[in-house]
Amino acid sequence: MNERYARQELVKICKLLYDRQLTVSAGGNMSVKINDSEILITPSGRNKGMLEPEDLVLIDSKGKVLSEGKPSIEHKFHLALYNMNFDTRAVVHCHPLHCVTLAVKGEKIKSNITPEGVLLLGDVPMIGYFTPGSKKLVEAVAAVGDHKAILMERHGAITQGRTLEEAYNRMEELEFQARLQLLCGDVEDLPKREITKLSKM
Ligand SMILES: [Zn+2]
Repeated sequence: MNERYARQELVKICKLLYDRQLTVSAGGNMSVKINDSEILITPSGRNKGMLEPEDLVLIDSKGKVLSEGKPSIEHKFHLALYNMNFDTRAVVHCHPLHCVTLAVKGEKIKSNITPEGVLLLGDVPMIGYFTPGSKKLVEAVAAVGDHKAILMERHGAITQGRTLEEAYNRMEELEFQARLQLLCGDVEDLPKREITKLSKM
């Protein structure tokens, strides 16, 4: 992917996340893989609704900064996901209100209530609370890094995908499922046979 195009696309996704209230103020961080050795990531401490293409920071697969700007403090778990999953080309981390509500309550997201949840998300593990930017947080994310979506206790959520659109869609779906779960209260999953059938689609 061409760097100029990647900068425009990532800014577009950040604005969409912000406009859809999937992230607020300077919260969250998003990245896209340009090629095997270069990743474009959001800068540290900036509002995601106000970014310009030139604000994004280019880093290599070890985290070395290759452009102007300071990358997000969380760039290490982005790198961990890219390094362990060859197919992953985009990572989105943010703090959607209903996901965080469940994450603060210590409740796992039920992604098997509706077909979309099964199809887009699969099982969503919840990792414990670790200080943002810490090595322990990176290790905890990597331990469940083969999942499409991850909930982070008292913090937020992470999704990954083969494209920015796929990672974005998974975050939007995750927040929808979290909100649905809070609205529905105590509900049963779809029948096991149906979940198996959907998982194979
Ligand atoms: Zn965060």
